Amino acid sequence: MARFIFITGGVVSSLGKGLASASLGALLQARGYSVRLRKLDPYLNVDPGTMSPFEHGEVFVTDDGAETDLDLGHYERFTGVAARSTDSVSSGRIYSTVLEKERRGDYLGKTIQVIPHVTNEIKDFIKIGEDEVDFMLCEIGGTVGDIEALPFFEAIRQFSQDRRGECIFMHLTLVPYIAAAGELKTKPTQHSVKELRSIGIAPDILMCRAERPIPEKEREKLALFCNVRPDAVIPALDLNSIYEAPLAYHREGMDRAVLEAFNIKDAPAPDLTKWHDVMAAITQPEGEVKIAIVGKYTQLGDAYKSIAEALTHGGIHNRVKVKAEWIDSEIFETDEDVTPYLEGFNAILVPGGFGERGTEGMINAANYARTHDVPYFGICLGMQMAVTEAARNLAGIKDAGSEEFDHEAGGKRFTPIVYHLKEWVEGNRTIQRATGDDKGGTMRLGAYNAVLAEGSRIAEIYGTTAISERHRHRYEVDMSYRAPLEEKGLIFAGISPDGRLPETVEIRDHPWYIGVQFHPELKSKPFEPHPLFADFIRAALDQSRLV
Ligand code: GLN
Repeated sequence: MARFIFITGGVVSSLGKGLASASLGALLQARGYSVRLRKLDPYLNVDPGTMSPFEHGEVFVTDDGAETDLDLGHYERFTGVAARSTDSVSSGRIYSTVLEKERRGDYLGKTIQVIPHVTNEIKDFIKIGEDEVDFMLCEIGGTVGDIEALPFFEAIRQFSQDRRGECIFMHLTLVPYIAAAGELKTKPTQHSVKELRSIGIAPDILMCRAERPIPEKEREKLALFCNVRPDAVIPALDLNSIYEAPLAYHREGMDRAVLEAFNIKDAPAPDLTKWHDVMAAITQPEGEVKIAIVGKYTQLGDAYKSIAEALTHGGIHNRVKVKAEWIDSEIFETDEDVTPYLEGFNAILVPGGFGERGTEGMINAANYARTHDVPYFGICLGMQMAVTEAARNLAGIKDAGSEEFDHEAGGKRFTPIVYHLKEWVEGNRTIQRATGDDKGGTMRLGAYNAVLAEGSRIAEIYGTTAISERHRHRYEVDMSYRAPLEEKGLIFAGISPDGRLPETVEIRDHPWYIGVQFHPELKSKPFEPHPLFADFIRAALDQSRLV
């Protein structure tokens, strides 16, 4: 039977609850326990699939095709446990399930209420797969006091009553430094805990984010006023790298406090070797590479969270620091000459995106990389635009483009070499989606297999010809352009097992030019960098030695 750890937040949002949860998961694993992490989000969207990247950051896709919160990416990166669709839920999904049941008559004529119907649905979600792991960590999105979050707090309160002794609560707050007083202030934390206790939840552990060390006196004060043991007040100071968090929180006693709260006395000592190795590579790099990321949502770092992390992992693998610079592809549309923006970078990455805005700039960036022998990595839309560039400038299809942009404009402006795939063979999925088929409309979501050509650059990088990667896209490169493009040197090296859908392209007569239709960044981990990112950074390093 699993033990449950509920992680809540107070005072302000964006304190890094996801990272704290992920780090705790990693520490429990380091002590030999199995873990699963879950996110319960109070917003009313059914899932983040339809939210703008500017609103919500990256949409993290699971193998089984769910579009989830980006915190699930942290969970996977820190624990290596592949997230499932049943690890993420929102108020919207809970309510829509309850309403579906009501319409079906499942409640036998009862009046449907938040308590018990909505709270029961939440409790059922928390329990899914409980006998598979030692610890289930459930993070509640938002902050205590949010109106939408109330049913979640009520549900976890009830849950801890149903399962006495099997649940603990960890509350993450902020202890701000007030310069005028020269002091760290505990009052916001006291208020936040008071709020939590007023809805029946007494935290067992307090994680306190602070920009400077919390003196013993303040720590004791927090313990006294918030009714927790002093050694369960864990300072969480700002860190230079997120991958320092497991080590830093361990030093501050986070995992020990959790074990004590459960009264576990015989826990094995943690083996933190892999985290020490990761941090050694981050803190003692032997070089540096500069990567330009030419994308659409560059104003918001979180929109390409997994890409930024995967690049860091590639740097860890090569023991170099990766300096990633985000460039809005739109600027290349007004300014045709991209050289001033792109010279000086050791490699160029064009990530995914939706809609036409900025895509001509991506095509210009792909052209620059191809013609200047600069390593190029195109991901999803970045592959589609690389193929479009090759079609226009190598195969002579001057008006090559994607049907996606024609759709937007309602006219036929392009020869669609990237087209809307209206239906696809479900047979080549590795894993069936656990939730409804209507998710994401007509998008191809989740893990699909691809076959890589023997002897191709990409097969060499993966070290295999059979791969499975996660997808999130609606449009596909048209196979009928394969022959003319291959004749000009753009090779369709990876194809879906049924032979219908191009999965990867590459140019062999180039230091590193690869496009992939899937999202390799979603599966990269600091201690297990994705081979494509590891090799992309190696190529960037080679390039840096040329200049
Ligand atoms: N907009 C493109 C499509 O739907 C690419 C999607 C993406 O980059 N994730 O196919």
